[in-house]
Amino acid sequence: MEHLSIDPRTVDLDAMIDRGIQLHGHERPFLVAGIRMGLLALDLLQSPGYFGIEAESDAGSTLPLSCLSDGIQVGSGCTVGKGNLRVTTVCRPAVRFVDARGRRLTVELRPDIFDVFLRDNAEKTCTLAREAPVSRLFLWEWAKTP
Ligand SMILES: [Zn+2]
Repeated sequence: MEHLSIDPRTVDLDAMIDRGIQLHGHERPFLVAGIRMGLLALDLLQSPGYFGIEAESDAGSTLPLSCLSDGIQVGSGCTVGKGNLRVTTVCRPAVRFVDARGRRLTVELRPDIFDVFLRDNAEKTCTLAREAPVSRLFLWEWAKTP
């Protein structure tokens, strides 16, 4: 069977978020932001997702921040089960991606958005996570090649 792929420019975001909720169990801003973070990484790396890309999430295992890593699985196709998603215990809303060519990218939730997600109600913050432009939600940086 051939590998699936994700095209971040044509994906049906609402349908993908619905699949994320099915996996994760509730709709929360860090889940939605993780999905969009994964899609952004695929777009920037021009990666088809699922394979040939690795992610290391600093979102830890404490709710609500840890919801981010399930979003990363849905949005990027990097999964714990394939071994191309690792989760650290740093507890920051940041994920490092590396593709098959060794290009390294870090995507992080903007600090003010992180604060809003922690403070405001789920309905309001989920709408923000769904609808805000990626540049409003995230900061990203390419790592210098050694
Ligand atoms: Zn959650």
